[in-house]
Amino acid sequence: MLNFPKKVLIEEESLRDGLQIEKTELTVDEKIRFIKGMEAAGIRRIQVGSFVHPKRVPQMANTDEVFKQLDRNPDVLYTGLILNMRGLERAVECKVPHLSISVSASETHSMKNAQKTLAQATTDVREMILAAQSAGIAVRGGIQSAFGCAYEGEISIDVVCNIARLYDSLGVDEINLADSTGMANPISIQNLIARVREVVSPKILLSLHLHDTRGLGIANMVAGLNSGITLFDSALGGLGGCPFIPKAAGNIATEDAVYAMEASGIETGIDWRSLCDLALRMEHRLDRHLPGKLMHIQS
Ligand code: ZN
Repeated sequence: MLNFPKKVLIEEESLRDGLQIEKTELTVDEKIRFIKGMEAAGIRRIQVGSFVHPKRVPQMANTDEVFKQLDRNPDVLYTGLILNMRGLERAVECKVPHLSISVSASETHSMKNAQKTLAQATTDVREMILAAQSAGIAVRGGIQSAFGCAYEGEISIDVVCNIARLYDSLGVDEINLADSTGMANPISIQNLIARVREVVSPKILLSLHLHDTRGLGIANMVAGLNSGITLFDSALGGLGGCPFIPKAAGNIATEDAVYAMEASGIETGIDWRSLCDLALRMEHRLDRHLPGKLMHIQS
């Protein structure tokens, strides 16, 4: 017997995770039009971009401008991602109310993605979180490669729990468990959530970030729902991937995730049909086939 929450929040990641491996660079106006389209479809949390070095991820070079030019809807939470203190300075300047700050549970992925050992990354993340909080910014502490690493294989649950404990001690608002490599399965999802819940305060919101690399994205989402998770990341048409994970595939598709939830009686406040139109628009703009399912059977 499945036991689902009544209501779920989606964090739309198309413009950050979704675009970071694409060759096409969207303009500020194009990004804002996608944001407005998401809002019109009922999305209430949007990751607008990352504040990383423009040479490293050129698709994110206009994140500051998007934040500055965006006409902000008071019902929507706009968030961003930072990797260092310079990113935090930019986010403060752009009046970003919420930030994702994360470390990888894998030593090798951490070195490739951030050129830092896990110990160094953990020290830096602590400093960034404290600085963000003192600037009045709410923080999601992320744990990348929490369910497995493309380089190292299995990731120790103790390593993940230690990072979660650190986030708890820093008083973050939310902890995000990321299956960056799509190596999770429904059982490992339920196990890890249960173990993390044992070590962190019950008031911390736990969220899931799922990639569909092995076709288990929606199955893992269902396992997460059954474990009481009420916040999921997703991207239009299943966009996404990490430039530093070999053969990375996209996130769960927002419209497919919303459809699965609504069909199961879970309220999302989101119209998946409008999202299909947006996903098709994105597919057209990027000029490549996106892996989303519903977008291709609608219309
Ligand atoms: Zn991701």
